[in-house]
Amino acid sequence: MKCPACENACVRPAVEVLAGIEQRYMACRDCAPEPNLDKALKLVSLPGKIERCQLCGRATLDAVMLDALRVLRDFGLRDDLDTLRSVGTPLIDVGYPLAYSPRLGRKSLIILGEGLTKEAAEAMQMLIPEIKGVILSKGVPGVYRSGAKPLENVLLAGCDMRADICQSLFGELVIYKSQSKIHIEFSRQSAPKMRILEQLCLQGKASEVVDGLTGPGTLGLMCALAGSKHVVLNDAWLPAVQNVLLNLEANRSLLGIVDIEYPERPTKMVGKEPVLVGRARGPCAIEVYHGDLTRLFERAEPAGLCLIDHFPGQETKILEKACSCCNEVIIV
Ligand SMILES: [Zn+2]
Ligand SMILES: [Zn+2]
Repeated sequence: MKCPACENACVRPAVEVLAGIEQRYMACRDCAPEPNLDKALKLVSLPGKIERCQLCGRATLDAVMLDALRVLRDFGLRDDLDTLRSVGTPLIDVGYPLAYSPRLGRKSLIILGEGLTKEAAEAMQMLIPEIKGVILSKGVPGVYRSGAKPLENVLLAGCDMRADICQSLFGELVIYKSQSKIHIEFSRQSAPKMRILEQLCLQGKASEVVDGLTGPGTLGLMCALAGSKHVVLNDAWLPAVQNVLLNLEANRSLLGIVDIEYPERPTKMVGKEPVLVGRARGPCAIEVYHGDLTRLFERAEPAGLCLIDHFPGQETKILEKACSCCNEVIIV
């Protein structure tokens, strides 16, 4: 599968990713222990370069962040009084709840930071082998409410495509995200939503589901994995819908998908009237719409269950009203 962001092989079928996940970040027999540097220590007090493992060639997270901090200092964007924390948020290429600090191979870390320039980001990505991409953070990306201008972070260098492994009682899915355009959700934040979903599935309420603000498709696709017969995924934000289509393809064999059609092409960045952009056949019939949730049921069939996974603090009254044709609307 070609990565839509960089055209390299960043996107692998979910079954392949899951098969290698246990080994992916584990130390080899020669890996030095994680230095566990104090994240509040100033650069002047931090050690020099930390060498990569002689045997497997991989680095600890501290080693990569230390190199990144030095590049930023050389560009005048940080100084000797800054800390490792000042670099930004490190996001591993395939997010997975780890009980240990990851050992990082080539192009396995994306850094999301503030106060970065394109030149510095390109240097970080060129000089530090583990860095896959650098994103300038401007806030939480996505569409907050219909009509509002969407907020996007900026990919400064490399590729921003990464995945999270989403786990539930029903199994695992690999959900790819164009991380400069899709909000970041750590597994501790998504876990409560997954518990709600599991309960709804176990109660038999999820045979037909609408995932109204689906983002990259996490909840809706998990329903499909859990045995739903019909799932509608919708989002107004074009990058989200493009990620959903990619995730259908990546998780094709896990979901038993027989074929995927692309009936209409989305055109706007922020969709209004519902456009059917994808349809998958298999044990679960899946439809993907690009459009405003308040207008979804002009085209899509209402379902027994409608999930609304909104941004924190976002007003949901209008959305709930628009989805009241479904038997049950759950704000997750
Ligand atoms: Zn890529
Ligand atoms: Zn090693």
